[in-house]
Amino acid sequence: MPDTTPPDADARRAVAPVICYPPETLDPPDLALYARARAGAHKLSDSVAAPREAATFHVKAAQFFRITSVEGPQVGDLNLWAADDLNERFFSGKTRALHGTHVSTGDRLWSSIPYLRPMATVVEDTLGWYGIDEFGGAVHDVIGTRCDPYTHMLLNHDDYHHCCHSNLTRALAAETGMAPQEAELFVHDVLNVFMCTGFSRDTGQYFMKASPVRPGDYIEFFAEIDLLGAISACPGGDCSTTHSSDQAQCHPLLVEVFAPPAGALQGWRPAPRNGYSRSHGL
Ligand SMILES: [Zn+2]
Repeated sequence: MPDTTPPDADARRAVAPVICYPPETLDPPDLALYARARAGAHKLSDSVAAPREAATFHVKAAQFFRITSVEGPQVGDLNLWAADDLNERFFSGKTRALHGTHVSTGDRLWSSIPYLRPMATVVEDTLGWYGIDEFGGAVHDVIGTRCDPYTHMLLNHDDYHHCCHSNLTRALAAETGMAPQEAELFVHDVLNVFMCTGFSRDTGQYFMKASPVRPGDYIEFFAEIDLLGAISACPGGDCSTTHSSDQAQCHPLLVEVFAPPAGALQGWRPAPRNGYSRSHGL
């Protein structure tokens, strides 16, 4: 292979980047309205994902759900579906394109094509202080996929059944009555709640490091549509060393659902499904 470096290589590298999707092009969520509604909200339910297991939960549009670290540092893999149509699911890739590699207060979780609308909005994040560290790491990523037994098989040549993919599959199967092999087709790339990740600056590789989460830390969301959610307490624990095994110390995760008082969101409507005609030029 001949050297393909052009004479103006440095000049080409020096071209300034352009943000693909400037966030100001999106309608901003009305965080003040959500905060007023949240102030009078009461708790409806709670559920707990046991270590190396997943739990499902239901949230109606205009309710809130909070994921809290309890007992010890733990990361969680979150899946969201439209409650009335599991084909509409969280789209981590487009969420990443719109908001960046990690989400925090004011960012939204978007649904898959052809629905592509906000499913949930982050309204509180006690790890918002973390920012981006010297390695390029940050918290609550939409760059990882989910730990899964297929990648584990490729890399380690054995069966492991408590990867987040399998935990989410079992939880969704139990929730819906579907066979596990059917349910797993609805499991999708996650929001890595509390996980601290990035891409190494020198090689561009996906990395994880010990999550800064401590018991009592939480991330809370406003549900923009009726949701079915599932959260897996990842076998990686705080993801400081390994995952896809029983080696890491793991802890449960708590999910609480809160309902605002009647009339607190007057004038607010769930986002409609995406308005594109789907004619694709034909
Ligand atoms: Zn995991």
